[in-house]
Amino acid sequence: IPVDPFDLVIFGGTGDLARRKILPGLYRRFLAGQMTDDSVIIGAARSELDDEGYREMVAKAVIEFTPKDKLDRDGLTRFLAHVRYISVDGKVSGGWEKLKEVVRQGVVKAFYFSVAPSLFGELAEKLHRHGIADAESRIVVEKPFGRDLASARALNRVLADHFAEEQIYRIDHYLGKETVQNLMAVRFANILFEPLWKAEYIDHVQITVAETVGVDGRGAYYDKSGAMRDMVQNHLMQLLCLIAMEPPYHFDPNAVRDEKLKVIRALDAVQPDDIVRGQYLAGNGQGSYVEHSEDPNSRTESYIALKCHVSNWRWKGTPFYLRTGKRLRARTSEIAVVFKEPPHTLFDDATGWRENVLVIRLQPNEGMELSVMIKEPGPGGMRLKQVPLDMAFATALGAEAADVPDAYERLIMDVIRGNQTLFMRGDEVEAAWAWADPIIQGWEARGDKPQGYDPGSSGPEDALMLMHRDGRRWRDIR
Ligand code: NAD
Repeated sequence: IPVDPFDLVIFGGTGDLARRKILPGLYRRFLAGQMTDDSVIIGAARSELDDEGYREMVAKAVIEFTPKDKLDRDGLTRFLAHVRYISVDGKVSGGWEKLKEVVRQGVVKAFYFSVAPSLFGELAEKLHRHGIADAESRIVVEKPFGRDLASARALNRVLADHFAEEQIYRIDHYLGKETVQNLMAVRFANILFEPLWKAEYIDHVQITVAETVGVDGRGAYYDKSGAMRDMVQNHLMQLLCLIAMEPPYHFDPNAVRDEKLKVIRALDAVQPDDIVRGQYLAGNGQGSYVEHSEDPNSRTESYIALKCHVSNWRWKGTPFYLRTGKRLRARTSEIAVVFKEPPHTLFDDATGWRENVLVIRLQPNEGMELSVMIKEPGPGGMRLKQVPLDMAFATALGAEAADVPDAYERLIMDVIRGNQTLFMRGDEVEAAWAWADPIIQGWEARGDKPQGYDPGSSGPEDALMLMHRDGRRWRDIR
């Protein structure tokens, strides 16, 4: 279904994110027939380019970042006819009048700030001063949204000077993933899960986002951030919220975000003993974290595992274990909801009992798996066996699943549709920083050093202990 006609201005339209994600994503939505004939994409950046020069750059980016079997050359030529370029600098006034002439009235106007957050204020102010944006326009902002509560508040204030909250789309691309939305469908469109979705029946929840890549060329940036700021405060927190939130009264942006906010506010402070930070060592022919950093004594963590509690009626006593890291054994993202033992053991002699686990896989092979106990086949008496009820979306849905838009595509179309459900609200981001700040300040004040771990492993030893000492264990990273 086509979205309304739009003018989308991409500030930072020549940058890495625009070339890798935004432009190829728009191209795929164009091929899918979602862009009307009169919609226009306007690259806006500092480079002195004309429309033709920019189209060449866009074509190269689309070809490089589109899977071969999805590339349609004629389609690309048609797509490029929708692309324009204006040279503007957020810091000076040149170019803005030209941009004003190009951006039309009477269509959806969206401005994607794919630039450093230090430019947000100037872009927002100039869009207004030159009469380019109005009360109907939308702006899209990228991560990182601050590096602590104070800087996130400052960014929110700068944006609020010129735009209402209903106009601001803060991207967390994890929320654009198909399985993440499926989590809401599974929880709230089935009667099966919700009655069990509480501390009485759920032993614990583990959320893992494991990467195989290191920081490589991004060492200088990453060193000021680390796994807590770069992954936990935003992406893992959003996943935790979707697992832990109460059913919203309606599938409405603010109803969903109100419930997520309540979860963040219910999080207890995390105790120092419940946090393990790690830093990858050299190995497998690649350098260590500090070799990629500019600081040979860097204490930035490339791995973090922590245990936290949502202190409310539903979750009292069910721990949430979160972990994320770079240079780990495999690229895996999953949420595992681990259920408790049945209250009474019926099969006295039965062996092989394992807990029920609902696994929501974000990658690879997006899907869900529910492990259940059955009787092991054969005459050997009542022996139990754990088997998966597996639903790989690719198998269950066939071609439909193969055509699932990637997170950026979906989110950009949601901006044009004016649907904020999958975007973080300002108060959510601030609440998440209010939770993260004391944790970070704690280890900084104590001078904690991250523990080294081998590349290709599943993280530092102490992270295994974090669960072992509670009589639990992490699922394998594979
Ligand atoms: P980049 O350095 O590759 O590109 C920056 C872009 O901003 C360029 O197009 C440049 O021309 C433009 N720019 C710089 N100064 C400008 C000015 N004064 N006026 C107008 N335009 C100016 O950066 P990137 O990697 O594309 O990242 C852009 C934003 O997206 C950043 O906030 C980054 O944190 C965020 N982000 C990037 C990625 C990624 O994978 N690259 C992922 C998540 C978030």
